[in-house]
Amino acid sequence: MTAQRFARSVSILGATGSIGASTAAVIAEARATGQADIVVEAVTGGSNVGALVDQAAALGARFAAIADPALAGDLKDACAARGLSIETGAGPAALIEAGARPAEWVMSAIVGAAALDPTLAAVRRGVAVALANKECLVCAGDLVLAEASKSGARLLPVDSEHNAIFQCLQGQTRVETLTLTASGGPFRTWSLDRMAAATPDQACAHPKWSMGRKISVDSATLMNKGLELIEAGRLFGLPEHRIDVVVHPQSIIHSLVTFEDGSVLAQLSEPDMRVPIAYALAWPDRLGLSTRRLDLAALAQLTFERPDMERFPALALAREAFRMGGAAPAVLNAANEVAVDAFLNRQISFLDVAGVVSEALERAGGLDLISKSPSSFDEVAAIDAWGRAEARRAADRRRAA
Ligand code: NDP
Repeated sequence: MTAQRFARSVSILGATGSIGASTAAVIAEARATGQADIVVEAVTGGSNVGALVDQAAALGARFAAIADPALAGDLKDACAARGLSIETGAGPAALIEAGARPAEWVMSAIVGAAALDPTLAAVRRGVAVALANKECLVCAGDLVLAEASKSGARLLPVDSEHNAIFQCLQGQTRVETLTLTASGGPFRTWSLDRMAAATPDQACAHPKWSMGRKISVDSATLMNKGLELIEAGRLFGLPEHRIDVVVHPQSIIHSLVTFEDGSVLAQLSEPDMRVPIAYALAWPDRLGLSTRRLDLAALAQLTFERPDMERFPALALAREAFRMGGAAPAVLNAANEVAVDAFLNRQISFLDVAGVVSEALERAGGLDLISKSPSSFDEVAAIDAWGRAEARRAADRRRAA
């Protein structure tokens, strides 16, 4: 079946990051091969002005926004120096404007809970929102889903596991369980002693995926799989006990769905984020892509292991937060963002990351802060701020010890 050439206007929130670069590559290929007419409305970055201007120029974006308000002048000057006459903005309002501008498809790829407001601006317009960012659904899932159902926005999962499940679910009913695959990260075979001395660069040297530093550390602790577990629960409406995790070091099977008749469907491909991004961009169709094809005979073996909860307690913490519900996932996410940052800045050790998150969750439980789900985005912001402050205190105590 030949696919129809299609037209889309798109915006990329987090255009300067790893997912932003892969999204730009998919758009470039779709344009170059004549599969799609794509107009780029807006691109955003955090603080990297040079990379943002490069992306805006390469994609022909109409608007570029940088998160750091102090960089407003630098962004204008850099655009002028490149001969780019586009609109620019800086600071939180400019990021929200990027999400609010009239694109039919918005990639949400800002890292962390910082993505929430710009993503919501897109969700509230009722358009297609490709969700690479997972932290938004973890900290404010019910509220984001309610906004999407109010506006008619279509959330298209881009995380490779959720995209795999989404592909397997097309036209299906009677789902029994989901199985998320995990590569196991760079420390899959390391002893606890070795992990205790791991450096940020070692934690970011992922064996299969090249990603931003925060998600790379999350992959090394397996918190990434924990966040994905909560994300999957929110996206596909299943409770914690119906979502399994299996370590699959080759990262070829991206996730699986078991149905009530015992059938299992899985999605396989080489580990390359362009695949799920292209699926989300062309959905419900597909794009032709020049990605490497699977050679199963050359691979010879696909292997599977149970995750080691002793060396990777972050996964158990995320499961617990998901089971507890209420505001626990928001506390987990906020504390994890702070702990990962402290580890990347060499303030705490690798094993301290899960320790800090655990302390913040315990304290929130003790104060009964987490029994009730946040009922507004202001409440999410308050819980997020509380979780961050608590995690900073826990990290400082560990640093001092
Ligand atoms: P990167 O760190 O590579 O990129 C993050 C992007 O967010 C950059 O554009 C960065 O700008 C911007 N940014 C950083 N801080 C802020 C802020 N405070 N406000 C606004 N923008 C900010 O991350 P990834 O691309 O790897 O990941 C992005 C999201 O996608 C994450 O939520 C991650 O979990 C998810 N994801 C990523 C995958 C991957 O393969 N990389 C796979 C699946 C999910 P600047 O460059 O200027 O710092």
